[in-house]
Amino acid sequence: MSMLRRLAALARGTDPGLRRSLQYWAGTCLLYIVCIMLLQVQVDTGVSQAGAARGLMMFGGCGALLFYFLIRAHATLRLAPDQLAVAQAVFSLVCGMWAYAISGPLRAAMLTMTVVIIVFCMFALRPRQTLLLSASAIAGMGATMWWLQAHDPVRYPPVTEALTFGYLAGALLSTAVLSGEMSKLRSRLKRQKRELTDALDTIRVLATVDELTSLVNRRHMNALLEEEERRHTAATFSGPATCIALLDIDFFKQVNDQHGHATGDAVLRCFSAAARAPLRASDVLARWGGEEFLLLLPATAPGAARAVLERMAESVHAMPMPGLDGRRISFSAGLATRGPGETFADAISRADKALYQAKQAGRNRIVLA
Ligand code: GH3
Ligand code: MG
Ligand code: MG
Repeated sequence: MSMLRRLAALARGTDPGLRRSLQYWAGTCLLYIVCIMLLQVQVDTGVSQAGAARGLMMFGGCGALLFYFLIRAHATLRLAPDQLAVAQAVFSLVCGMWAYAISGPLRAAMLTMTVVIIVFCMFALRPRQTLLLSASAIAGMGATMWWLQAHDPVRYPPVTEALTFGYLAGALLSTAVLSGEMSKLRSRLKRQKRELTDALDTIRVLATVDELTSLVNRRHMNALLEEEERRHTAATFSGPATCIALLDIDFFKQVNDQHGHATGDAVLRCFSAAARAPLRASDVLARWGGEEFLLLLPATAPGAARAVLERMAESVHAMPMPGLDGRRISFSAGLATRGPGETFADAISRADKALYQAKQAGRNRIVLA
């Protein structure tokens, strides 16, 4: 079974584009197989001559195989997908003309296949290419009909051939125009899908990222806290606890008052970049409001959490702030470990009290709740 699956994977390849092309090819093959079977019935019932029908069957079978290898190796051969689609359509049209020429009284039925080929093109070709192929099909079929009535006017009466040609041309032209409209519709749908995906990405960013600092915003942090609360309920509490810390920039009002609001904004951006730099991949720093930040440290012991905060303080202190003439920035922090079954709201409230103590004790320090 796994051997069969491996063989199938080898035959289909791994590239999604290639797989789609091969799916179309498989659909065409199914149509070829049905046509070959019907052609055999035509031979068995005396409608078509065996020799001519066998030739067409061989031609169709070999062509289908050749196209499998061309599709499989199109990258190596530098064949564009639409070049391959045009080649396949032309090949099928030639088969259709051949079938028309050898099907005697059944020949008009062969024309339905020609229309089917043009409909197939709608999925792989541009409207102009489909129109050109339809024109080629009309010309090719016209030439076949003219040749038949010129060589055997008894079996192929000129009037019958001319009228059949008229109906075929009308059907092919209408199908080509409809295919063109469908292609335009598909392009429009594709473009709208792309625009919707882009808009969704923008909305996702706006909903989760703080515009000024590019940190996680308060709304998204609340969602992360809820998720963490669900994951580690009192019953499933084990291993290192989660720590949270509230950070507040020291004397930030002075920055605004002395250097202006724009410099204050630039300092907030710079502070955020410096504070985020030493964090581990699992830590999340959010802008909680104004110049206040909330740090989430999952599965972290209080000692390790304090070490993270100390690294952040060093990073912030080392960062030259824009427009502050060399003055450095510091922050105070209140650190709390979330107890078993405790809500984050309670843990944050304890961290807030610890932050207040840090401010009272002179700022630029970390106080454990
Ligand atoms: P403390 O050390 O006690 O925290 O003093 P502080 O001056 O930092 O504290 P306070 O809370 O009094 O001041 C915070 C200031 O932050 C006041 C507010 O105007 C400013 N602020 C809040 N959000 C922004 C912002 O987005 N941009 C700028 N430029 N300023 C902001
Ligand atoms: Mg402050
Ligand atoms: Mg504040």
